Amino acid sequence: MKEISIDDVIKNIRLKTTPAGIKLIREAYNLAQKAHDGQKRKSGEDYIQHPLHTALNLAKIGLGIKTIIGGILHDVPEDTQVSLKEIEEKFGSEISSLVDGVTKLGRIRLRGSQEEIHLENLRKMFLAMAEDIRVVLIKLADRLHNMETLDAVPKEKQERISQETMEIFAPIANRLGMGEVKCQLEDLAFKYLDEKNYAYVLKISQEEQEERKQYIDEMIAELKKKLEKEGIKTLEIYGRSKHLFSLFQKLQKHDMDISKIYDLAGIRIIVSEVVNCYEALGVVHKKYRPLVGRIKDYISLPKPNGYQSIHTTIFGEKGKFLEIQIRTQKMNDEAEFGIAAHWIYSQQKRSLRDFFFRKPTQVLPKELSWTKQLRDWQKELGKNSKEFMESLKIDFFKNRIFAFTPKGDIIDLPEEATPIDFAYKVHSEIGNRAIGAKVDKKIVPLNYKIKNGEVVEIITSREHKNPSRDWIRFVRTSEAKSHIRKFMKREGMI
Ligand code: MN
Repeated sequence: MKEISIDDVIKNIRLKTTPAGIKLIREAYNLAQKAHDGQKRKSGEDYIQHPLHTALNLAKIGLGIKTIIGGILHDVPEDTQVSLKEIEEKFGSEISSLVDGVTKLGRIRLRGSQEEIHLENLRKMFLAMAEDIRVVLIKLADRLHNMETLDAVPKEKQERISQETMEIFAPIANRLGMGEVKCQLEDLAFKYLDEKNYAYVLKISQEEQEERKQYIDEMIAELKKKLEKEGIKTLEIYGRSKHLFSLFQKLQKHDMDISKIYDLAGIRIIVSEVVNCYEALGVVHKKYRPLVGRIKDYISLPKPNGYQSIHTTIFGEKGKFLEIQIRTQKMNDEAEFGIAAHWIYSQQKRSLRDFFFRKPTQVLPKELSWTKQLRDWQKELGKNSKEFMESLKIDFFKNRIFAFTPKGDIIDLPEEATPIDFAYKVHSEIGNRAIGAKVDKKIVPLNYKIKNGEVVEIITSREHKNPSRDWIRFVRTSEAKSHIRKFMKREGMI
């Protein structure tokens, strides 16, 4: 990867900054630079390149000074002599707690599940521990750079990291509405997990690329002319091609038949107001016949992750299929940068583009001073992160509950699971010897339905070492059922 400097990070910050903010970033860089001095990445680069790239990723998706600094310092306490306490003294408790959160995420290991460590569990753990959404964003930026430099590590590690990226990090990016990050992570992981298919899909997508590009350019010119004639203001019209992994998934659904893929490439029309989206759609359909069943209005019916856009597939010039996406600037930023764009909008009420191309001479209103901005972002962030966690619970934790052992081990259970299910999840002997249970320190019946977040303690007896056949009527997990059945068979009960 290209070597970058702290100036590259600063140049890419999309939010308004002040000299004080920039100074703080440089101070963080100086500390990280010194702390990591002499350390090398597997690729041979100076270690500091990794936190710099992490910070650059964060700047590009539109995050603020504190999160960027969190990215610069994220590997300092774990890998260097500089402690978290020093970070707190120099940069305050908010930044140090971001760094601490990232460090802790890196350390997550599942205890108590000797038999099968499901990645599923890890995913939930990861989410449950992410109390501050910015910690997750730093972790995603960190992972993105690790994936981009994965060539340098041994094959076995490449596979493990890629698996984890595919199963944990890409879904989280998706859930946060960060479509661009999600696709980048998937494409990188795809390359290491399935070399053969990756090469195949890459070849397909590159075939006829020239021809396709030419066609798209022609269509863009046509559409521009048409929209202009009808008096519809567009901010931008551009071509896009499908990401490799998402192309692969689609091919699999269609017997690997490329002719059935209608959105291999497409055109995106960006307008300023929602009403313009529908006007533009009308103009497009007036000129080109739409394909039945391919018109999707995600503006009135957003996807669960909040994605909004209109999609339509048309018979374009020369009768070729082409997918057209129509959306506002705000929808586009939110589709690419997700939750980051969301809180910037709610604070600033203007587009990321404005920030990006803001003239340096432009004077900011007094009330938008740096400190107030930061304070407001924090407020906004707090609100969003709560909303975000709420909505995450709906998707990720659907039909699953988490209970804890008194020692703090997490036990993953299906809905309506009982203390007996819990006991068998911990250990078969605990299940066999169970005679009672406490939930949050209060005695409950053994058919009690455990609720999310409860601490369950199983009371066992030394004399009692067999399950009761009555349990079979209320247990929910297959583990519990099979242990009880095994016992009943042995006793000749069934
Ligand atoms: Mn890192």
